[in-house]
Amino acid sequence: MSGKTSADNDALLRQHGLQVTAQRLAVLRSVSGRPHSTADEIDKIVRAEIGAISRQAVYDALGILTDKGLIRRIQPARSPARYENRVGDNHHHLICRTCSRMVDVDCAIGETPCLTAADDSGYEIDEAEVVYWGRCPECVAATSVSSGDSQAKSL
Ligand SMILES: [Zn+2]
Ligand SMILES: [Zn+2]
Repeated sequence: MSGKTSADNDALLRQHGLQVTAQRLAVLRSVSGRPHSTADEIDKIVRAEIGAISRQAVYDALGILTDKGLIRRIQPARSPARYENRVGDNHHHLICRTCSRMVDVDCAIGETPCLTAADDSGYEIDEAEVVYWGRCPECVAATSVSSGDSQAKSL
């Protein structure tokens, strides 16, 4: 969805004061290609793509890219962290309790009203993490199909 070329990713790394390495480029590419992937999933994609890279190197690259703000780390309750390259717009997420699929959802009203806390206790707020939990359409459909099948054949 980002439509970013590898040259853009090169420039992005440099803009953030990072040395351009094959590892960082590969990690950045897989996060943009498969947003909301876990570190394990990214590790698999990167390894399939460039081969010789240690798991630690992938984790290190994820860490530094997150620290520098090129990618965003989402840490839903009771599940592994996910990474995405859509940063800086304070969007939120929908997560399916059944299959763990995560999708983006724009800020509820648009103007990041979620950053306007009812009582900010004097904090300078710059981010709100909102996660909507539920079931995705596929999982809802799958349940209604199997429950509609009342004459279930037991083997
Ligand atoms: Zn689901
Ligand atoms: Zn997202």
